[in-house]
Amino acid sequence: LTIGVPLEVRSGERRVAMTPQNAALLLKKGFKQVLIENGAGFAAQFSGHAYEEAGATLVNASRVWYDSNIILKIRPPRITSRGLVGTNNYLEGFRKGGVLIGTLQPNIDRNKPVVDSMVRKGLTSFSMDMIPRITRAQTFDVLSSMANIAGYKAVLEASNHFGRYMTGQTTAAGKIPPCKVLVIGAGVAGLSAIATARRMGAIVRGFDTRSAAREQVQSLGAEFVEVSVKEDGSGGGGYAKVMSKEFHDAEMALFLEQAKEVDIIITTALIPGRPAPTLLTEEMVSAMKPGSVIVDLAAENGGNCEITVPGQLTDYKGVTVIGYTDLPSRLPTQASTLYSNNITKFLLSISPKEGHFGIDMKDEVVRRSIVTHNGELIPALPPIAP
Ligand code: NAD
Repeated sequence: LTIGVPLEVRSGERRVAMTPQNAALLLKKGFKQVLIENGAGFAAQFSGHAYEEAGATLVNASRVWYDSNIILKIRPPRITSRGLVGTNNYLEGFRKGGVLIGTLQPNIDRNKPVVDSMVRKGLTSFSMDMIPRITRAQTFDVLSSMANIAGYKAVLEASNHFGRYMTGQTTAAGKIPPCKVLVIGAGVAGLSAIATARRMGAIVRGFDTRSAAREQVQSLGAEFVEVSVKEDGSGGGGYAKVMSKEFHDAEMALFLEQAKEVDIIITTALIPGRPAPTLLTEEMVSAMKPGSVIVDLAAENGGNCEITVPGQLTDYKGVTVIGYTDLPSRLPTQASTLYSNNITKFLLSISPKEGHFGIDMKDEVVRRSIVTHNGELIPALPPIAP
């Protein structure tokens, strides 16, 4: 079977779904060919030469789509208003019965044309973002890999826009106080941000509605800040639930106090299936010291901060509010490497047997991540109960 890796064409996307190292692994495991679109790895620092050395073949976009049995992608293929795929991606040119694996987000309205196209073409497809976050599937978990990078990069972006050191220093020119960082939401991205800010020498505080997060925050050397209202925010499967009004009010009072004191706030708070909760109001942003920085990692889901403009950097009364929605892509080599490891391990776990895909619908990981099977739309299952 031949694997194809197209160039990602979405504006600003710098990642690639497959590294040369993983291309070599797949060839070693018995796949006939790995076709890489010319320039696909360029922005992530993987040269065409590196792919060729790994045994892959460089081709143009149409050959990737026409000659492959399995296509590996990051973003969903782009669809034009005519229902056809745009100039560089040729989903319409992909063979009937082909297999497409990527972060397809099939439940988002704008991706419906892609799903319709996959049904019409009789494709089998898997969405990496729908892989259940169970222990066995941790090696395929692109959500965690990308959240981990986003948390790290959020701290770097914040420090780039912050006019002082992160760490404290005593120098001949004077004593420099350490920067104070508050991280709201201590899931995968939040814990990564806390660890990064700590390593850079900042004083770090973490907050989460799930009490299980306390120990994780403290184990990274940060302080876990709390409200006096006792309520645990754990919903199903380790995710958060919507909190009572009493808790919400207490949380908001805490953030207003913290806003006056800290230099950097990184927000990551999300509740599955809902818009991101608004946790930083205009009043809180105005209360921050000039030169302070907010990075809103929930920007793509509506944002945790009232001032956030998704995808943009805003200066609000001297406070920089960063709403970038492409943080993993801003660390393209690392993000591509982890994504490629995840997708390669996933592909090998459902590896072809006797010349065809060994799809086992009784396998929970397969059943939950499959979108279409030979053109049949497979309905998504409800989230795993706690
Ligand atoms: P997420 O991105 O859905 O949410 C980020 C954080 O925001 C969560 O910690 C949540 O509790 C917090 N939050 C929500 N509302 C808040 C509010 N009002 N104030 C403050 N914080 C708020 O979460 P995630 O990073 O995807 O991880 C969620 C959970 O899933 C964690 O418990 C994590 O350990 C678990 N997880 C398990 C696996 C696995 O077992 N394979 C993999 C990944 C994550």
